[in-house]
Amino acid sequence: MPKFYLTTAIDYSNGDPHLGHALEKIGADCIARYHRLRGDDVHFLMGMDEHSQSVIQAAAGGGVTPQAWVDRMAATFADHWRRLECSHDDWIRTTEPRHIRGVVALLERIQQRRPDDLFVAEYEGLYCTGCEEFKTPAQIANGHCIEHPTLTLVPVKEENHFFRLSAYRDAVLERIRSGALRVEPEIRRNEVLRLLEAGLQDVSISRQRLPWGIPFPGDPEQTVYVWFDALINYLSATGFPEPGYERLWPADLHVVGKGITRFHCVIWPAMLLAAGLELPRLVWAHGYVQWEGAKMSKTAGTAVSLDAAVERWGADALRYFLLREVGFTNDGDFTWERFDTRYAADLANTFGNLVSRALTTRASGRVPARHGREPPRGGRRAMDGPRGARQPLRRGDRAVEAGESGSGRRARPGAREPGPHRRPVGDPRRTVHSRDS
Ligand SMILES: [Zn+2]
Repeated sequence: MPKFYLTTAIDYSNGDPHLGHALEKIGADCIARYHRLRGDDVHFLMGMDEHSQSVIQAAAGGGVTPQAWVDRMAATFADHWRRLECSHDDWIRTTEPRHIRGVVALLERIQQRRPDDLFVAEYEGLYCTGCEEFKTPAQIANGHCIEHPTLTLVPVKEENHFFRLSAYRDAVLERIRSGALRVEPEIRRNEVLRLLEAGLQDVSISRQRLPWGIPFPGDPEQTVYVWFDALINYLSATGFPEPGYERLWPADLHVVGKGITRFHCVIWPAMLLAAGLELPRLVWAHGYVQWEGAKMSKTAGTAVSLDAAVERWGADALRYFLLREVGFTNDGDFTWERFDTRYAADLANTFGNLVSRALTTRASGRVPARHGREPPRGGRRAMDGPRGARQPLRRGDRAVEAGESGSGRRARPGAREPGPHRRPVGDPRRTVHSRDS
């Protein structure tokens, strides 16, 4: 049975899950379920990124320790993924000993194999706490991070450990061009290729005296930079460096958002090459769930409460809507109106009526029973009527038409009446999200 190891990005622990997180997890979950149906030996990993600087701020704002804070956030995220019926096999948190062991082992492996590729230098730059990343001029617009226009960039100057990323440009470029490392969809592959062709700068991989993080091997004054730390989760979850991790590694698929392809398609492959490890087979970078054309995120203040979205029509309806309307390639809008329309037209009318008609037809005896048994009643008529069992439902059927003609809102079998749970976006719940943004 071929193994299929897939991962999602691990989520920052500084705020509640929103629809953007949900799209990624639901999409990956469908891929995992598809591969299980194919008979593959699926291992599906999700998890939490818990060492970010924003956790320190969020915990201080909430008056608790960082550990207490991330424990609470992990429980919240896990609860949401349970409600959305994500079928992950493993859940990794970057504060776990197994992960810390993996990070230290990977760094030591690079120190041994390629000692010149790790060096100490002074760094000065503008830091985005939303991305947890130093920003290059190309990533800044109007003085702000392109991904986080509402956040202020922080000037930082300190001595750090660096990784000689520039030394791996040609190798990573060759892997992506040859298809050894696939990047999809094509628009993302082209972006990554342009980035590599423009050349790479060496990257800082540690922070000075940050009290929340993994101590840098051989230098307790520094902690491992959160992105370098977080990327390794995909490997540490396989049991690396203990023998047997190759049963899962390399990953067959990393599912990530389009905003973090530089980390997954450039830095991560370079780290693995430096350590002499195999590269993942495929990185799939999905688009964003947008709210009126803007990326939905906590820091942008536009996050629709995931709770409200699940409560609207249930977990299955939300799963359907996100993949049907937003999809896994481009950006797509979420609005309550579109959600309600899809629910009524597709789920209640088209599919709902199809199931209803199929059951009615079966009960009326127009479909022969399976296993050669006689249908419960009227069985003899099954082949007699003008529309016997071997005729499929025709497009002219009124129930099917109702869904396709978009007139679904008038006939919504089973649709719930608007209730107090159907509050407009934001209002009372949004105060939860503004806690620490
Ligand atoms: Zn940013």
